Amino acid sequence: MLILLLIATSFPGCREKEKKATETAMCLDTIVTVTCYADTQEKADKAAKAAISEVQRIELLLSAYIETSDIYQINQNAATTPVKVSDETVSVLSKALDFCEKTSGAFDITIKPLVELWNIKAENPQVPTDEQIGAARDKVDYKSVVIEDGYVRFLKEGMKIDLGGAAKGYAADKVFEVLKKHGIKNALIDLGGNIYAMGRSESDAPWKIGLQDPDKERGEHFYVMELSDKTCVTSGSYERYFEKDGKIYHHIIDPETGYPADGNLLSVSVSGDSSFEADMLSTAIFVMGTEEFEKIKSNFNYDKYVVVTNNNGTSNHAVYEKQ
Ligand code: FAD
Ligand code: MG
Repeated sequence: MLILLLIATSFPGCREKEKKATETAMCLDTIVTVTCYADTQEKADKAAKAAISEVQRIELLLSAYIETSDIYQINQNAATTPVKVSDETVSVLSKALDFCEKTSGAFDITIKPLVELWNIKAENPQVPTDEQIGAARDKVDYKSVVIEDGYVRFLKEGMKIDLGGAAKGYAADKVFEVLKKHGIKNALIDLGGNIYAMGRSESDAPWKIGLQDPDKERGEHFYVMELSDKTCVTSGSYERYFEKDGKIYHHIIDPETGYPADGNLLSVSVSGDSSFEADMLSTAIFVMGTEEFEKIKSNFNYDKYVVVTNNNGTSNHAVYEKQ
């Protein structure tokens, strides 16, 4: 996730008569805010409410924390009995598994045994032993998820799916569709830093989204993304982490080592058309590093990505455009 700052603007000329509605809710363990513009207040209000309902619907389907969700049911049972899931879950999992394959497993939706072992949100989180990490790592293997005729099964005991690095992006794309169905052309969808910027901002120009500088106070940005019917998603190591003996242990895990990804990246922001893909990409690039990713970039859909690197205490940023 990450803080993206909306660079403030005001209504000019023809947009003055537009009505604006903003709805905010806590879901997906983050703050979701949708602001949309329409010719009537009623239309704007209705669309913003429908947007939040859509996020809540997706959370009920894909959360690993809600007992009735498809993902929870898979995690409980799929190692012993195939689990019947909705067509939508099949579609999300199939696309996510394809993505895992394209990253050769740097992104792996079966990361949950390692996420649970590191448990960075615990009151007093601990660094696991190498033995514990090895045991959890054996259960992380996207190739051992089988989807057949609407059923999901695992080929190994103890496997668990975690869509924490993908489902906020998927939700942002779905909210975009819902708003379009409501006739909305201009809106800002913010799912805890997963942004989808529809149409144009109040100043009738592309939305300007500032990327938070990881080293500075909240509100200070180092780069401005201009977005119109585009998404921008950020993954960073400086929001969800714990510190032990002077070392930072964050929430983006390298499936190969079982440890938090240990490159020199502080954050990765990806822009493009699909928030689902940008969400997975921001996490994947964080794990792989830019050098590895540049070798395989033609397999992915995005416009550009911006990384912040930590070079012996000083941070720098670099922008990689997709040719
Ligand atoms: P991203 O970089 O986009 O994703 C990082 C997250 O992806 C990690 O936190 C981990 O979950 C997972 N991940 C780590 N390494 C990898 C890897 N190599 N490959 C693939 N995935 C990886 N959190 C709660 O504490 N309680 C909740 O009830 C809860 N409900 C959620 C429901 C949904 C539907 C979603 C999408 C998320 C929910 N979360 C919940 C939050 C989630 O667990 C992550 O903390 C959050 O999504 C991190 O997102 P990010 O944008 O910060 O980072
Ligand atoms: Mg991500």
